[in-house]
Amino acid sequence: MPEESQPQCPASKPWALILAAGQGSRLSAVLDGAAKQFLHWRGAPLFWHSARAMSRSATVAGVVFVFPERDMGAAQDMLANLQHRDDLGLPWLVATGGALRQDSVRLGLSVLPAQARSVLIHDAARPFLRPELVRRVCAALAGGAVGVIPAIPVTDTIKMVADGRVTDTLPRADLVAVQTPQGFALDELRAAHAYALRVGLTVTDDAALLEALGHEVCVIPGEANNVKITRPEDLVFLHAAVPERETCTGMGYDVHRFGQGRPMKLGGVLIPHAPQVLAHSDGDVLLHALIDAILGCACLDDIGAHFPDNDPRFEGISSAVLLHEALDLTREAGVTPRHVDLTLVAQTPRITPWRGEIRKNVARLLGLPLDAVNLKATTEEHLGFTGRAEGIKAYAVVTASRTLRQNSETHE
Ligand code: MG
Repeated sequence: MPEESQPQCPASKPWALILAAGQGSRLSAVLDGAAKQFLHWRGAPLFWHSARAMSRSATVAGVVFVFPERDMGAAQDMLANLQHRDDLGLPWLVATGGALRQDSVRLGLSVLPAQARSVLIHDAARPFLRPELVRRVCAALAGGAVGVIPAIPVTDTIKMVADGRVTDTLPRADLVAVQTPQGFALDELRAAHAYALRVGLTVTDDAALLEALGHEVCVIPGEANNVKITRPEDLVFLHAAVPERETCTGMGYDVHRFGQGRPMKLGGVLIPHAPQVLAHSDGDVLLHALIDAILGCACLDDIGAHFPDNDPRFEGISSAVLLHEALDLTREAGVTPRHVDLTLVAQTPRITPWRGEIRKNVARLLGLPLDAVNLKATTEEHLGFTGRAEGIKAYAVVTASRTLRQNSETHE
């Protein structure tokens, strides 16, 4: 972010420091020397996933990314690119880290806007952070805590060891494993870091500095999934994470005029003794609405964009063929239709005798069970063009599941 746009923040919301300055020596050997915080997962570096969780919590005023000096140029380029396609929705700054973790925190604190009153410190190597945990840390800070740490019970027995021999067994019931983000009142944390620098105190988390000065540190429940990617075997957590899916909905609408044209087909079923329809393709109003709804689920424009009605290739073509092509396109986009609700509007013909067959055929074309396809029919009480029996119209609503596209482009 350019200096001239120094962000303003409400004093009540904390800023977040995301520490991406570690060398990650235990992992870099298997990552060809790359620092783990720049490891890409689901299309974005690990540090960006934490920043997103901060943003989604709606309780954080802004983010400071702390990077190693040697990677600063590359990190700035990466951030600009990420921000362009996936706006964080928060002001952010960058800071250069130091040799030790606590040096990086101290340097990160030094760039915070003057209005900041509290801060969250988070390790970029915990990419599974959820907004809920951020909110709980912030709530404890808002309640007046000077220091807040999330922690989970220890399940392994912990022993003190020296020279390969056990010297003590610690009482497990008294132990917890501490995570980040840790939350702090800013004045107290700055004073603690200044003290540590003065007396040469080295710690592995910021809470320890407050403890050294006699401050009370409040413990809240952490999350078992909020693991830190530290060792080569931890990479399995990234690979094992099941791609998340989200539900999406598409809507389609189509009209065909009655006239000397093509025999009426609805949902791929020929309807005998019905008015003919004017159409470039086979004029299946129900499948056309359905195709538009399916394309809608995948944000793939509309039927006219893919199958123009002035293209001779589509003259008289079966709409079932067009439906299959639309399904191929949506499948490539990671979209799978799950449920279809269709409504036909016509004064004539009566749909009831054909309803079961149409449903069955649409379900077959989509590869869905029969109870995932519904067909409704109505007249418009002799009103409008359908009421005057000049044409027929159809609506389709499709519910689908879609691979969560966390890193796809959000701006054209
Ligand atoms: Mg049409």
